[in-house]
Amino acid sequence: MKEITSMTALDLGGHIKAKNISVTEAVKAQIEIIKKREPLFNSYITVLEEEAYSQAEEVQKRIDDGELSWSPLAGVPMAVKDNICTKNIKTTSASKMLANYVPTYDATVVSKLKEAGAIIIGKTNMDEFAMGSSSETSYFGPTKNPWNEKHVPGGSSGGSAAAVAGEEAFYSLGTDTGGSIRQPAAYCGITGIKPTYGTVSRYGLIAYASSLDTIGTLGRNVSDCVASLEIISGHDPLDGSSVEKSSYSYTKSLIDDVKGMKIGIPRDYMGDGLDDDIRKSTLEAIEIFRRRGAIVEECDLSYMEYAIPAYYAISCSEASSNLSRYDGVRYGYRTDEYDDIQDLYMNSRSEGLGMEVKRRLMIGGLVLSSDYYEAYYHKAIKIRRLIQESYMKAFESYDLLIGPTTPKSAPAINDSSSDSQKRKLSGMYSSSINLAGLPAVSIPCGIDKSGLPIGLQLIGNHFEENNIIRAAYTFESEMGGRIRNEKI
Ligand code: GLN
Repeated sequence: MKEITSMTALDLGGHIKAKNISVTEAVKAQIEIIKKREPLFNSYITVLEEEAYSQAEEVQKRIDDGELSWSPLAGVPMAVKDNICTKNIKTTSASKMLANYVPTYDATVVSKLKEAGAIIIGKTNMDEFAMGSSSETSYFGPTKNPWNEKHVPGGSSGGSAAAVAGEEAFYSLGTDTGGSIRQPAAYCGITGIKPTYGTVSRYGLIAYASSLDTIGTLGRNVSDCVASLEIISGHDPLDGSSVEKSSYSYTKSLIDDVKGMKIGIPRDYMGDGLDDDIRKSTLEAIEIFRRRGAIVEECDLSYMEYAIPAYYAISCSEASSNLSRYDGVRYGYRTDEYDDIQDLYMNSRSEGLGMEVKRRLMIGGLVLSSDYYEAYYHKAIKIRRLIQESYMKAFESYDLLIGPTTPKSAPAINDSSSDSQKRKLSGMYSSSINLAGLPAVSIPCGIDKSGLPIGLQLIGNHFEENNIIRAAYTFESEMGGRIRNEKI
């Protein structure tokens, strides 16, 4: 039998079901690896060692009683991003502001995972309040990329991606507001899926930009990602934007066949700024789809050059409203030094929030102010609509769209040439998809000259996850399965 921690989540789930491995054995193996690797990678803010062992006993009993025969992931250790509320377990959003916050309730996704017998082994590191693309803005220090610790794992779900790639968890939950599942998945050589907005409940997610925030999964391969997505999706009356659908079955689309599928390559995704190695791997991937009988052709989208500015205008505006609740009175950190209520607000926020968050709140405040509302916010939501329409037009002709996930592979930590402004460009192929609310998956499609992974992005029409899952699964099979970092 392979070493437990290098199995896929579904393999381990199968072994647990067949009683070859006990849940406690799986937890023990996972905790040992976490203890060894955490000093290097810092994928977690909180590791739940004791809790995981007691969960293991409970879940084993439920498995033995036949209660969990429906769940393919029962007993498998997994990780939850630290902006998703877990009852009685610290949930910090990687901010000093919430460093001691212990929710009294579980997010809907966490309740669903518990129902399915998942073992939550820890809460993962991230950019503060999910604002960023490198996981360097965490109050708890940066996460490192398991392929090369001198590089970032991406962000904001960097801890969730590094935990899976570094085999510190079998799969994980991340959140994607402008690319934060797909970009770190690409940088860490794993699969990450962002479903259609409204598919997975946001109840219990610490909000960044509510009209864009989406919870999804990261896994070692397409099947793990899809099996876990199936567990967490579904209508939830506690989330006003949750959509009621007749079926949330995704595993049925794990089909190794793309014959006759119509795939578009948006020209905007292959233009200036794209790294040569990534271009080459993307074109090779496209050839594979052609060879397997898909009809692939170039196509045009419009307004893509405005996606990043529109994304930041909208996300910063929503953030400035969402984060106004952190005032030192109702939630989180409170300053020791204040004379009056104004001081209390100001000092609590000045001391409790990091630089990048403050920068965005100031932008959001400006964009929403009466002087600039028309010029910035209103314009941004018009552009959002035009971008949505442009995608809708493309989906009249294509089943899915294909392109790179990021223009470059993972940058070095503290790379002085990559200031916050430049880092924002890593979202140039991902944020328009959030503006349009579409589903997309990133799968590994190669390794660049410096030995870092490259991600391929497949984008589907609303609620047509099935097309991207089928194409991703076919591609992964052609590549001979997941890519594994042999060095770890
Ligand atoms: N990098 C983008 C940002 O900084 C995306 C973040 C996200 O998806 N949470 O806002």
